[in-house]
Amino acid sequence: MRMKLKRMLTLQQQLNDETNGKEWERGVTKQGKIIDWKRAIYLELAELIDSYPWKHWKSIDAKVDYENIKVELVDIWHFVMSEILRQNYLDKKLSFNELASLIEKDIKDIRAVKKENFYQEIEEFEKLLSLLFCNFDIWEFTKEFFKASYMVGLDFNSLYKLYIGKNILNKFRQDNGYKEGSYNKYWNGREDNEVLQEILEQKESLSPAELYSELEREYKVEKL
Ligand code: MG
Ligand code: MG
Repeated sequence: MRMKLKRMLTLQQQLNDETNGKEWERGVTKQGKIIDWKRAIYLELAELIDSYPWKHWKSIDAKVDYENIKVELVDIWHFVMSEILRQNYLDKKLSFNELASLIEKDIKDIRAVKKENFYQEIEEFEKLLSLLFCNFDIWEFTKEFFKASYMVGLDFNSLYKLYIGKNILNKFRQDNGYKEGSYNKYWNGREDNEVLQEILEQKESLSPAELYSELEREYKVEKL
């Protein structure tokens, strides 16, 4: 677990360095945009909660979209790690190995606790929202984040696999005009996230480089 945590922290640092420029930890990108990871987290949490059929006035027989909930959890994990990296850069300056073992210590004993119905699951995610705004502590948040992930069936190894995939997709998006607004998120009518999940399901063990070229191949098909 520690090796996987260390690898994810390293990839996240690289992605942030490349996307936002060195010293993004100080809170501003190389283009001068202010960075707010907490805001990013609560908006992803809102997307996550909207994957539940909570609306009493619309599509009341819809099923819970657990696939999308997992995708949103992975999105949140990008931002949680970014906040850990930011805080560590500014004060503690621990090595990635030390950071990984701190996270590991916090989460290794977590077991999945199932809820009786989806409303109770939503409440758990709303507790995460409250943690963001009351005495925010990134370590406490991280622990609760994992508890909530386990609750909906996303264990550490599935999170890891999806994270590696999404990290590569994010890099791919940045390399193809995401920030400039010229990136096309829909490939032959399917969202790039779906294409990614399909590739990950078809091929059990892809290296990051292989995954990147698979994405390139699919993206080109769309452009023809
Ligand atoms: Mg979404
Ligand atoms: Mg999202």
